Amino acid sequence: MPLPIVAIIGRPNVGKSTIVNRLAGDQQAIVHDEPGITRDRTYRPAFWLDRDFQVVDTGGLVFDDDTEFLPMIREQAMAALKESSAAIFVVDGQTGPTTGDNEIADWLRQQEVPVLLAVNKCESPEQGMIQASQFWELGLGNPYPVSGIHGNGTGELLDDLITYLPRPEEIVANDEIKVAIIGRPNVGKSSLLNAFLGEKRAIVSPISGTTRDAIDTLVERNGKTYRLIDTAGIRRKKNVEYGAEFFSINRAFKAIRRSDVVLLVLDALDGVTDQDLKLAARIIDEGRAAIIVVNKWDVVEKDSYTIYDFQKIILSRLYFMDWAETIFVSAVTGQRVEKIINCVDTAAEQHRRRVTTSVINEALEEAARWHSPTTSRQGKQGKVYYGTQVSSQPPTIALFVNDPKRFNDNYRRYIESQFRQQLGFPGTPIRLLWRGKK
Ligand code: GDP
Ligand code: GDP
Repeated sequence: MPLPIVAIIGRPNVGKSTIVNRLAGDQQAIVHDEPGITRDRTYRPAFWLDRDFQVVDTGGLVFDDDTEFLPMIREQAMAALKESSAAIFVVDGQTGPTTGDNEIADWLRQQEVPVLLAVNKCESPEQGMIQASQFWELGLGNPYPVSGIHGNGTGELLDDLITYLPRPEEIVANDEIKVAIIGRPNVGKSSLLNAFLGEKRAIVSPISGTTRDAIDTLVERNGKTYRLIDTAGIRRKKNVEYGAEFFSINRAFKAIRRSDVVLLVLDALDGVTDQDLKLAARIIDEGRAAIIVVNKWDVVEKDSYTIYDFQKIILSRLYFMDWAETIFVSAVTGQRVEKIINCVDTAAEQHRRRVTTSVINEALEEAARWHSPTTSRQGKQGKVYYGTQVSSQPPTIALFVNDPKRFNDNYRRYIESQFRQQLGFPGTPIRLLWRGKK
């Protein structure tokens, strides 16, 4: 399940980006939207205590100005608010309440999302209380004096903010498993879908996706519902400006984003192409589970070693996805097509899996027994205090350490491989967050 979202709202120049930077620290944006297509907001991961969320800056909100972009900005803010669990409304404590603030407040009061009012630029504690109290008139409850630049007051604000966010265990897993079928043109995506649906088409209800980029088909198997997101089912748009290539990769990216599990379909005759690598990288960036489906296996001349040789070649190219299962199929003969669903089940299960803190810490102790973090030139050694799984889909483990800088890439990779060995998680990427004391 995605992390809860907190929207940052306010007029231009009140300090929204300063506050976002403070909340998100140096954690980079996790979401890569194609600008201007659906959403072009940037989501940054943030956390407070043991709670993880994402912050999204909605851009300066103005109501009185009739600039050309106004409707767009407002729409963006509205869209951000709709998907948020809470909003922080930032105002400028040094200027006091303005007409613009009042307009935004009126608008916010009509929305359902809980709003916390952050009165920014309150550097001095005594003055801050006075500055903040002027904002009671906005009718949004308690104004929190904060300083985005220095960090004063943000602790109290965040303590209250997280009470509005759903707890990880409350974020109910949706039963439907969303499966994207992606791959280059002509690898056999539609053929695979047809082979899979086969006779059972009768119980299939094709419904159009949320966009015209993919066709969704709902299928029931073994009491479970799968939503197959097929990017091939749509006629390729003939667009002189971009060409088919542009659309196919974009469509694939969108399908990946909407899925739980991705079937990365390869053509056995072509092996792993550069485009396949791009798709694979995107799957990992988005944190989706994946299965490598090698299609057209019927046309490969085989002996008893062929499958192992193929496996090796694929792994040497897709080494960064070595956690994904590879399955060799033929849409034409139907060979192993039904097995794909078993792989999907395993991957989806692992993608949603949660392990207890004690299991993680046992794995960490075991890892430390073999290798301790190297000592830096200054003679300072990294120390891992404990680890805990902070979210799933993909499984994300936070490691609380004395100082993240004391752990080099080698050691980080070592810990990740230890987790793989001891905790498994086949079929899904895992994420490790290295966190120092704040
Ligand atoms: P945004 O347009 O709302 O994203 O505002 P910015 O974060 O870009 O900040 C606008 C201006 O306010 C910048 O010059 C910041 O340096 C300043 N600013 C932001 N936060 C604070 C603060 O806590 N105290 C003071 N004194 N200035 C701040
Ligand atoms: P898509 O563009 O990825 O949806 O690919 P299609 O499903 O349209 O298939 C492209 C071509 O590959 C068609 O001519 C299919 O008949 C052929 N094809 C698809 N799957 C297989 C397979 O398993 N074996 C063989 N020999 N041909 C296949």
